[in-house]
Parts: sequence; C-alpha cells; structure tokens
Amino acid sequence: MKMEKRNYQICTCCVMDTSDEYIVFDENGVCSRCNEYKQRILPKWNYGKGHEAELSALISEIKRKGEGKEYDCILGLSGGLDSSYMLHLAVKEWGLRPFVFHIDAGWNLPVAENNIRKLTEKLGVELHIEKMDWDEMREMQLAWFRTGLESLDVPQDHAFIAVIDKYSQELGVKYILNGYNISTEIVADPSSWAKGGGPTGDGTFLKDVIKKYCRIPIKHYTFTNGFKHKFWIPYIKGVKTLKPLNLVPFTKAEMIETLSKEYGYEPYSQKHFEDLITKFLEGWWVPKRFGHDIRRAQLSSLVITGQMTRNEALKILEEPPVSEEEGKEMFKEVAERLEITEEELWRLFELPECTEHFKSQEKIYNLGIRLYEALGIEKRIRR
Ligand SMILES: [Zn+2]
Repeated sequence: MKMEKRNYQICTCCVMDTSDEYIVFDENGVCSRCNEYKQRILPKWNYGKGHEAELSALISEIKRKGEGKEYDCILGLSGGLDSSYMLHLAVKEWGLRPFVFHIDAGWNLPVAENNIRKLTEKLGVELHIEKMDWDEMREMQLAWFRTGLESLDVPQDHAFIAVIDKYSQELGVKYILNGYNISTEIVADPSSWAKGGGPTGDGTFLKDVIKKYCRIPIKHYTFTNGFKHKFWIPYIKGVKTLKPLNLVPFTKAEMIETLSKEYGYEPYSQKHFEDLITKFLEGWWVPKRFGHDIRRAQLSSLVITGQMTRNEALKILEEPPVSEEEGKEMFKEVAERLEITEEELWRLFELPECTEHFKSQEKIYNLGIRLYEALGIEKRIRR
C-alpha cells in the first residue's frame, strides 16, 4: 500500500506517531491502539487483577498433564525481563517443572548471560543451551543486511520459535510458557516498521532470502513453517502456548525489583538490549536508517497502562536510545563480529530500501487467519 506523505501527528494519549505509516487517529487525536486497548483489552485484563481462579486452574492442569514426565512445560529464557520473570513465577511461585532453554546465537551480551546464570542457579533448574552454528548465523545475518530490509533480527527470532516447535515435539510436553504480557507490550511494533518480511515463523521466506543472499550453504539451522507452527503443533499435537503473565498483576518496576532482590538480576537500559545485534539494530541502525524509534511502542505500553506519564515518555524520547559514542563503538564491534570492514557495513547502511519480493507463506497465513477467525480461535489484535 502506497501512502501519501502525511503531516506529522502524535497521539494525544500515548506517544505513537506518524512514524507508523498506517496509524489512524480519531477526532480527538487518539490513536486506534489506545481506543482498542480501552474498549477491548483493559476490561478483560484489568491490570492482571481478578484472574486468580483462572490461573490456579491453569497451573493444576499443567501439573496434572505433566505427571510422570520429567517436565510439565517449556520455557525459553533470553535473559530479558519478561522471560526471567516468567521463570521466577513458574518455578518459585507456581511449582512448575519447566524445560528451560536458551538460544545462543553468538551475540549475547555479558549482562544477559549473568542474569541467566544467576536465575537458573538460584532456582536450581537445568539450563539447556542451544548453540547455533556461528558461521551460519553470521552469514545469515549478513544476508539479511544485504537485502536492505528493516527486520534484521529474523534469523534469531525464527530460530527461537523453530527450536520451541522442535522441543515441543521431542519432549511430548503440552504447554509452552510465553512471556508475552499486556503490561509492557500491549502496543506492538507497527507492521509498517517491518515491511517486506512476513511472519517470523515463515520458513519459506527465510529459505528464499538464504537462497538469494547467503554465500555459504545453511545446513544446521532449525526451520519451522506456518503450517507446523500455527496448525500442526497447536491443533493436531495439542501443544498450547500460554501467556500466564497476563493473569497476574505487576508493573515493570515491580518485576525489576523482585528479580533484583531475589536473584541479583541486573536490568539494562532498554527492552531487548540483551544481545549486541538487537541492541545495535534497535538502538542505532533502525532509528538512523529508517527513522523508527522502537521505544515509542515500548513507552506507549507503559503510558497507556498507567506506569509512566506521557510527558515522562516524551522526555525519554528526546534523547537517542544510545549515545553517539556507544553507537560508534557498537558499529565497530558489529562489523568485526560479522568479519567485514566498517566501510562495508556503511555500504550496507546506505543501501536503498528493499523493494524485492520474496517468496512467502503469506497467502496460507491469511487463509489460516480467516479460517481461525471464522472458528473463533483467533482473537488477538492484528495490524
Ligand atoms: Zn495512542
């Protein structure tokens, strides 16, 4: 969809603005996400309050189905706030026995590794580390840079869901604990910030980019696809992905406080800043190259859920996500790790925006979404 260049406008309620090409405002200048949140999300969610019975039924069900098995659920731990808090609740508060895994895609920052170690050690859970083949990950990362696309974290993100799919089949466990939460994530990144990508679980898209842009064969990487991820595993295998953080009341500040106190967890300056490549992309590359500041969505979530005022969020947005110096430092480090020169990375930075069309499962996805909507299965907000 080609849009006319529009005048700048920012929501009067949150801090989303016309950097989201498809943003829609009502007559009071309130964006459609804010309205949708107030009308549809908040009444049901109620800040996580009043869901005790639902939560306790869920925990009992997980325990009952897991009887006699080594694990009763699966949990992917990034070292970030959401999955760390999820692990804390699952083990310490709810007495669950998760299979805990972490994907090491080669970009981990020490702060994430320390957090993961502190949590798993204190909770006494075994950590399964899925170490990706670094030469392949490096080449795939370079391939995505070469496309000129904005969504450059696809190789890591796809690996994460493909590995969950793999484990859920191998272990025969029926529940996946997902750290998604309304409290800090209700305002999702706009789809206009990820043009030309397609769903993260779309293996067809990945394979097409690999075919066109990778210079070495990719042999060890784990793939999944829309059919397996959205249909086979949930409906035929009966593996449910749960988002239990929405059934408990908490704020971001409370999460940090609990984890710091209990485990010596170290918070970091921005969501997703647990690995170098994501920090570089979200803190430097994307704002500079595409003019999108991912913090707008993150801060808007905190504003509309009452954890921060709109003015506080605007104040934060006045400063860049990372300083000039830190940006320069990361630029150098990323080039080094990718084994290219800084000039080469600059050349990739200056590529025209990608207009190439890649193969994808978009049609199947859309068909699936319509089918699920007709069956009343699919209810989340989509943009
Ligand atoms: Zn808004």
